[in-house]
Order: sequence, then C-alpha cells, then structure tokens
Amino acid sequence: MSSVKTKVSFENTQIAFSYKSTGELKKAAWLFSLINQNWLVKIGTKLTPLFFYLKLPIKSVVRATIYKQFCGGESLKECAPAIERLAIHHVETILDYGVEAKETDDEFDKTAAEILKAISFARTIQHIPFVSVKVTGIAAFGLLEKLHRKEKLSDGELLAWNLVKGRMHRLCNAAHDAGIGIMIDAEETWIQDPVDELAMEMMKFYNKAKAIVYNTIQLYRIDRLNVLKSFFEEASENNFLLGVKLVRGAYMEKERRRAIEQNYPSPIQPNKEAADRDYNDAVNFCIDHLDKISCCIASHNEKSSMLAVNLVDEKGLPAAHPHLHFSQLYGMSDNITFNLAHAGYNVSKYLPYGPVKDVVPYLMRRAQENTSVAGQSSRELLLLKKELKTRSKN
Ligand SMILES: Cc1cc2nc3c(=O)[nH]c(=O)nc-3n(C[C@H](O)[C@H](O)[C@H](O)COP(=O)(O)OP(=O)(O)OC[C@H]3O[C@@H](n4cnc5c(N)ncnc54)[C@H](O)[C@@H]3O)c2cc1C
Repeated sequence: MSSVKTKVSFENTQIAFSYKSTGELKKAAWLFSLINQNWLVKIGTKLTPLFFYLKLPIKSVVRATIYKQFCGGESLKECAPAIERLAIHHVETILDYGVEAKETDDEFDKTAAEILKAISFARTIQHIPFVSVKVTGIAAFGLLEKLHRKEKLSDGELLAWNLVKGRMHRLCNAAHDAGIGIMIDAEETWIQDPVDELAMEMMKFYNKAKAIVYNTIQLYRIDRLNVLKSFFEEASENNFLLGVKLVRGAYMEKERRRAIEQNYPSPIQPNKEAADRDYNDAVNFCIDHLDKISCCIASHNEKSSMLAVNLVDEKGLPAAHPHLHFSQLYGMSDNITFNLAHAGYNVSKYLPYGPVKDVVPYLMRRAQENTSVAGQSSRELLLLKKELKTRSKN
C-alpha cells in the first residue's frame, strides 16, 4: 500500500480556487458578503418562495446569483460543463435532482424517471460515482409518517408503499448495472424509520460485492451513533457491506421547534460539542471497519475531515481507499474538496440541479447556513478574500 502522501492543508487557497477565474472569485465574494447580512437572508428566505408562488419575475435574478453558485443547471446537459471542470482537478460529482416535497404518484414516478436519467447520464460521462435520492421525492410524506408511527396501513397505502419500494428497486438496480452508487438522504426524524428500513432492505439486496446503496446517518441526533453500530452488526450478520454517508444534519431548528410544540424530548444533541463528538466517533468507527463499511464523510467541518485524513495515515491505508469518500456541497468549502483531491483522496461535490423554482428550499438552506455568526465573516468569505488578495499581488 502506498505510504508517501501529499500533506493536506485546508488553508491552501491557491489549490482550493485554482479552477476559478478572478472574475468568478469576485462574484462569489460579492454573493457571500450579501449572504453574510443576516437581515437580508431573513427577508430573502421569506420573500423568495413567496415571489415564486406569486409568479413574480425573479427567476433570472435567482438563477444568475445564488442558483449559479450552488447548483449545476436546470438539466443534466447544463450540468456537464461544471462536472467536467471539477474532473480536471480530480473532483467527482454526486448528482442530486433537487426537487423536493411532491405529493402524487405521478410526480413520484416523474422524479424516479429523472433519477434514472441521471444514472444513464453517469454512464456516458465519467466522474459521477453516486446519485442521491430523497425518499420524500418518491414517496408521500404522510405515508412515511404513518409508517414511522407503526400505524396499520390501509390497502391503498400498502399499495402505495409497494410502489415506493418498486421505484427504489428500479433505481438501485440501474445504479448497480451502471457501476455507481445511490446515496439515500436523511430528512426529518419523524419519517426516518421507514427510510432506514428501506435503505437496509436495499443494501441487503445490492451491497453484496460492493456498496451500491448508502444510507445517511445524522450525528446531530442523540441516538445515531448507536444506530450506526447496530446497522453495522446487522450488515455483518447478513453478509453485506454497510454503505453510510455521515452528516451532522440539516433540520436542527425545525426538529427542536417541533419537539417543543408537541412536548416530547428533543432528538437533537444538547449542543454543538456533542454533535461534533458523535460525528468524530462515527468517523473513527467507520474507518476502523473499512473492510466492511463503505463510508462517505459528507462535511464542511475541517477538523472532522482532517481527522479522517489522519486516521487513514495512521493506519497506513491508501488515500484513495475504495471504501472512503469525502464530499462537500457544490459552491462551498472548496478549500476542503480541492486540497483533498490534490492529495489523492476520493472526493466529490454534491451537485443539485433542476428547475430554479423547485430548488428554492435547498437554496434557502444554503443562504441560512452561510449567514454571519456573531458578526464574523463566514469562513467562505474569508477564504475567497484571502485568495483574491494573493492574486492581486501577483
Ligand atoms: C455532501 C453532503 C450531503 C449532505 N446530505 C445531508 C442529508 O442527507 N441529510 C441532512 O440532514 N443533511 C445533509 N447534509 C447537510 C449536513 O447535515 C450539515 O447541515 C452541513 O453539512 C453542516 O455540517 P458540517 O458537518 O458541514 O459541519 P459544521 O459546519 O461544523 O456543523 C454545523 C452543523 O452542526 C450541527 N449543530 C450546530 N449547532 C448545533 C447545536 N447547538 N447543537 C447540536 N448540533 C448543532 C448542525 O447539524 C449544523 O448543521 C449534507 C451535507 C453534505 C456536505
């Protein structure tokens, strides 16, 4: 196994932004400085969905700004230049058809058909190791809630659930044939049990020789480190590879609010330190069991990403271990992505695409997570400014 490795530094902005022109960096810095204004994000995240609902003509403004920063395009074809540009720097792409919250079987079939198209597309264009799937894109939220509550389903609901399983089998089967993976996103706690069960059922079927199906573990949840370990036991007992994507979790405020409103204990960790501790323990656990776990470290946290790098080093594993992958969202944390790729790690950008109005909820989440904390510029903005300053001197 290779032992000489390039030292990774997430401070290296030259490598991080080598794929961007100075004009593009200036535009990104301008956008992140706007997003840093908390008041603007507060108003924007309320008004943008409303303007789309009222059919006001804001699509072109959104498309030229925040959409361009965080999304690949409205169609797969439009994503191709971004994918190829990343690939030049050894960064791969996880395709994410960003349409959320649909409600009818016709819409679910359409979403599944779009994901099948993405899988075929991955066959024609290299550098796409995974496509992502949100179960709420192919199943009714209410049905998932009912399954989570372990309530008895009506005949119609049973049929609907079998249709969901059929859609998921079609996706996994196509991914298996195309030699790529399926990453199943984690969403709200009150629908997660059936998502987990579906993911494990698919893994049992498809993850024999190689991990095709990955489930997502949200370590901002109090219970998930133990759940990860129990999934591992189940996989070991049944002789299949466990595929997991490790995230902290994206719905913290919504989760806490619901727990207060409905008077049950919050499923979320009491503080950030506890979320970080469990995340890092999960990274340790997965890297300790890389023979039987295929794992994606999906994080913008530099310490967690570096922890994984150090563990790989300590264990003398190759940087490009086939069971270890890193991923960051497109438009964020290029300092992690490109420096990892430069050092030979498997790393990809998670690239959402789809009609502008359909990815608005995703864009609003990105704006919120990049607002200023305690009046400080976001990490993204500081890194962009640093690189612009360096370039202005050369
Ligand atoms: C490739 C990729 C795929 C993703 N897929 C999913 C997915 O399927 N499902 C999903 O839910 N999210 C997903 N996310 C988003 C992810 O969950 C995080 O919201 C986001 O990446 C920020 O966390 P971080 O690890 O980058 O680190 P950081 O920026 O260090 O951590 C921020 C996160 O820490 C947690 N946190 C912050 N404050 C507290 C607190 N006071 N108490 C407890 N926890 C706290 C929250 O989860 C917050 O988002 C994905 C992210 C990436 C990069």
